[in-house]
Amino acid sequence: MKTLDQIASELAGYDPQALSADMVNSFLAKLVEPVTEVEELGIFEVLGRVLAADIISPISVPPHDNSAMDGFAFDGAQLTVGAPLTLKVIGTALAGKAWTGSVQRGECVKIMTGAIMPTGLNTVAPQELTTTADDQITIPANVLQAGDNRRHLGEDLMQGQPAMRQGERLTPAALGLVASLGIATVPVLRRLKVAYFSTGDEILSLGEPPREGAVYDSNRYTVFGLLTRLGCQVIDLGVVRDQPAALEAAFVQAAAQADAIITSGGVSVGEADYTKAMMKQLGDVAFWKIAMRPGRPMAVGRILNRQGTKPTLLFGLPGNPVAVMVTFLAFVRPALLRMMGCTAATPPLLKARSLEAIRKKPGRTEYQRGIVSSAPDGSLQVATTGNQGSGVLSSMVRANGLIVLPHAQGNVAAGDEISVMMFDGAV
Ligand code: AMP
Ligand code: MG
Repeated sequence: MKTLDQIASELAGYDPQALSADMVNSFLAKLVEPVTEVEELGIFEVLGRVLAADIISPISVPPHDNSAMDGFAFDGAQLTVGAPLTLKVIGTALAGKAWTGSVQRGECVKIMTGAIMPTGLNTVAPQELTTTADDQITIPANVLQAGDNRRHLGEDLMQGQPAMRQGERLTPAALGLVASLGIATVPVLRRLKVAYFSTGDEILSLGEPPREGAVYDSNRYTVFGLLTRLGCQVIDLGVVRDQPAALEAAFVQAAAQADAIITSGGVSVGEADYTKAMMKQLGDVAFWKIAMRPGRPMAVGRILNRQGTKPTLLFGLPGNPVAVMVTFLAFVRPALLRMMGCTAATPPLLKARSLEAIRKKPGRTEYQRGIVSSAPDGSLQVATTGNQGSGVLSSMVRANGLIVLPHAQGNVAAGDEISVMMFDGAV
């Protein structure tokens, strides 16, 4: 386990007072380590979990060549360009009930979707393409080629091949894939435990009456939602008063139980409070100024439990509600995914045409709330939600993604292509 100073010394150009967003992610990638504990669980219990080992297919899927259509199976070598083909129907193959007789030239077998292809036959004429007279069917000229409408043995998966890789997350499709192999349980990495609390004397908990100068806590609820969507086990430690004893108790309790702690508030410059001091006292913590908007200040490091044996990762996020969500999506989420053992930690950025001009200063990464939609020609277009104030949480609700304007980018003109990170299932 490297100290923060060691990691910093490995990163050329590291400056805690002016970090680029990319540098933050490079740093965090060196800081976090994946969990190692594995549990073997049934398919209904593993949605969203991360595979702890490759899944090798014990069978081929499908296990036989079979028909992709309801129709007539025949040997496609009999097809001649420009000529119709008439065949005698000599039997029926049903899904789950194979037809086992032999088929001669000029003959075919009526076949249902999913039925095993009778021996020697490689082509299926869909029923709707054929005309029937007595026990004969006719396939018109030039509508089929040999091999059409046949699914090959193992075309989904071959026996002995990896069906999924360690580090992949179990999506709904993956659950079905695992089941299609006849596998009932899979090895997954254990869930991450993440504790969070809000700090600040002006922060009201729900149920408290409003008072002058105070705001209701929103960060705990967005963080709860973001962590839950990620599949983490959450430990809610409430709003913690700006008093050394209260802060220490919260950190100690979090460090005893959790793999990571997320706090909000109290890390900006000139904060006249105890949050930063307590973080420094209890662990190895760096205080960063990130060249980004929103969300400049952030504390990162490790807090030790009382015995000094188990380090817990700390993300001290800024206080502004939108800054919390943006720093979570840009930095915390990829880091937690790495801790979960997930190999795909960063979502792909999409390109969309900006519907408006956007003012942007080079030298910082900006994340603007965006509404992505389909243009009439089917391409993607994006508008901002308007006021980009870092306290305007309603715009996060209206947005369906973040516009990511990279470090070096200057002003955007209407019609320019820009990058968007879709919220997808994350927000
Ligand atoms: P700070 O980073 O502590 O200076 O907070 C920046 C701004 O975010 C202040 O206006 C705070 O009132 C606000 N803020 C801090 N924590 C929360 C919270 N948990 N919920 C809503 N607003 C908050
Ligand atoms: Mg504060």
